[in-house]
Amino acid sequence: MTLKISGDFSGRTIVVTGGSSGIGLATTKLFLGAGANVAICGRDNTRLSNAVAELAGEFDGDHVMAETCDVLDKDQIDAFAINVVQRFGGVDTLINNAGQARLSTFEDTDDAAWREELELKFFSVIYPSKGFQSHLEKSESGAIVCVSSLLSRQPEAHLVATSAARAGQLSLIHSMARELAPAIRVNSILIGVVDSGQWRRRFEADPDAGNDYEIWVRDISKEKGIPLGRFGTPDEAANAIFFLGTPYSSYTTGATIDISGGFSRHVG
Ligand code: NDP
Repeated sequence: MTLKISGDFSGRTIVVTGGSSGIGLATTKLFLGAGANVAICGRDNTRLSNAVAELAGEFDGDHVMAETCDVLDKDQIDAFAINVVQRFGGVDTLINNAGQARLSTFEDTDDAAWREELELKFFSVIYPSKGFQSHLEKSESGAIVCVSSLLSRQPEAHLVATSAARAGQLSLIHSMARELAPAIRVNSILIGVVDSGQWRRRFEADPDAGNDYEIWVRDISKEKGIPLGRFGTPDEAANAIFFLGTPYSSYTTGATIDISGGFSRHVG
């Protein structure tokens, strides 16, 4: 369900890394619907162009910019930050969303894969946060929201490198929250499973998946024992990101919101 936002967010500028698909695209739509300016980036130009075309059908194009940018390339991020500020005059919220999971066990994760995964989970937060920090500090309500994973607290053996990297990333995010306060609030959402591009790709790559995506997804939800009985939607993740990325959460920093349909087994 997409929230109907009461309140005017025109004049607020949001940056969404990985805004061309899934959770990032749903978040972009939510902020545009609330009147904000949104700048998105991704690596694949076709995916970005498709997202821009989709957005153009629903929103005023003056409020959107899209740029090809790999969050693991510091120079590209710094250039993106300059271009966003030139276009919209500043930045109020950075959403560190870009990324993907790595399906591998301790047995089959080689050294290069460990390095890649650690680099992705750390630098997808570090480079954009540093690149946009000085601009966020100028906002009256600067906020960083990181799209992280429940794996950071509840590791899974078949996602060993992603789980370990997410745990380290969450520690980093909490340290940033203390150091960047009070100018910038830093929070994260912890996703369980959300139906998005990456699950479509896993379905297509799974030789045993059958040919009905909906049945495949339903079976995984059942197998995992998700209490709410289904995958989350990108909109449900976006709603929590919106809360953390706006002054609706003005007294919250260093916090997490669980978007796992009850899959988390932690108390608190
Ligand atoms: P999608 O694959 O639908 O979207 C991922 C987005 O990130 C795409 O726009 C992709 O574009 C972009 N991206 C990936 N790597 C980079 C990069 N190096 N630089 C710039 N952009 C990049 O997946 P989701 O919406 O599911 O994923 C969003 C976030 O949520 C990810 O960090 C993911 O790990 C996390 N998450 C998702 C879960 C889920 O169940 N869906 C579970 C736990 C965490 P492009 O490929 O063109 O660069």
